[in-house]
Amino acid sequence: MDQADAPEASEVPPHVAAARARYHAGLPRTYRPWLHLAAPFACGAAVIAGCIACLEGPALSDMAVVPAMWIASIAVEWRFHRDLLHRRVPPLQLLYDKHTVSHHSLYVDGAMQIASARDFRAILFPWWALPALAAALGPPALLLGLVCGGDVGRLLMATGVLYVMVYEAMHLTYHLRPSHPLRRLPGVERLARHHALHHDPRRMQRENLGVTSRLWDRLRGTLAR
Ligand SMILES: [Zn+2]
Ligand SMILES: [Zn+2]
Repeated sequence: MDQADAPEASEVPPHVAAARARYHAGLPRTYRPWLHLAAPFACGAAVIAGCIACLEGPALSDMAVVPAMWIASIAVEWRFHRDLLHRRVPPLQLLYDKHTVSHHSLYVDGAMQIASARDFRAILFPWWALPALAAALGPPALLLGLVCGGDVGRLLMATGVLYVMVYEAMHLTYHLRPSHPLRRLPGVERLARHHALHHDPRRMQRENLGVTSRLWDRLRGTLAR
C-alpha cells in the first residue's frame, strides 16, 4: 500500500510529524506489515471455520448467543479502551504505552492517516493478541458448552474471535486515506469521524471510546458532542 499521496501531509502538526519520524526510525528492519496483518486474520478465520465445522445443528434459541456476545463485546471493548488503554494499570503498563503514548501521539484529529503499510504496527494489536484472546475464550466457551450445549460454546468462541477481527479491520480503516474504497462502505465514514474525535488529545481519555460502534458511548454518556 502506498499512501504517500497523503493530502493531509501539510496538516500534520510539527510535534506529530516529529513523533512519526521517531517511530519510523525505530521500526525494526525485520518488521513485515502484511504478515502482521495476515497472521491474526488467518488464525481467526481458522478458529471460526473450526467452530462452524464442528456445529451439530444449533437450535434457533442457541443462536441468541451470537447477538448477546456481540453486545457484550461492545461493552468490554469500551471498558478495555477506557480502563486499560488510557490508564496505566500495573502490570499492563505496556497497553497504555502502546496506545495512549504511541498510537495517540502518531495520529491526532486532522492527521489520522497512516503513511504506509509499515504504520500497521502502530494501529494493530500484536500478532499474538488474537490467538491469546481465542485461548482466553476457551474456558468460558467450554463452560457454556457444558451448561447450554456444545454449539452455544462454539458460537460464543466464533463470535468473540470475529468481533476482534472486525475491530482490527475497522480501526485500520479509520486510519486509511479518506478516499480509500473501504472508507466508502456504509456507515464507515461516520465511525471514522467518531474515532477521529477520540484522537483529539482533549477528548481521548473520556470520549468516543467505542471503535466498532457508537452504542456504548451513547449508553454511558461518553459520546463527543
Ligand atoms: Zn486510532
Ligand atoms: Zn484511545
